[in-house]
Amino acid sequence: MTGKTHASCGLLVGALTTQYFHTDLFSSVTVVVLSVISSLLPDICHTQSKIGQKFKLLSFFIRLIFGHRTFTHSLLFIGIIGFLLYLIDTPVYYGVAIIIGLFSHVILDMITPKGVKFLYPLPITIKMPINFKTGGLVDLSLATALTVGAVYVFFQIGVNDIIHYWRYFFAND
Ligand SMILES: [Zn+2]
Repeated sequence: MTGKTHASCGLLVGALTTQYFHTDLFSSVTVVVLSVISSLLPDICHTQSKIGQKFKLLSFFIRLIFGHRTFTHSLLFIGIIGFLLYLIDTPVYYGVAIIIGLFSHVILDMITPKGVKFLYPLPITIKMPINFKTGGLVDLSLATALTVGAVYVFFQIGVNDIIHYWRYFFAND
């Protein structure tokens, strides 16, 4: 999938996380930033990806050591990140945003013909029975649908907040 599709999925993950945890404005912005970064992070193994271009040297070495769509697309990688987040006492909503953001990337890559080495270091490629070409029409439509979904969730949160404050305001009047 393209970076755009991954980022839109990260955006939706962020929106749903803020909705679920009812985070305040500052935490909500952080949640969304973290989930979008996490949804792109596994492609650090790809020097041409959005995130790979930002961290060229790191990206180069990761690719050299592990190859593309292996370690950074595995359960092992997500597990290590989860463990590190636990060690530094990350607030649960930040942890959820990051872990689900990472999973969203791997799941999206599973619906491409190339699949992912999800069980790395086991050399097994995992892909869905139905898969779509990166940059194709489905990829593009998916990016749009995910963005629309995210905007809808943000809109809903906004409307709920307004109703909430409205009630609060009149209850104390
Ligand atoms: Zn990927």
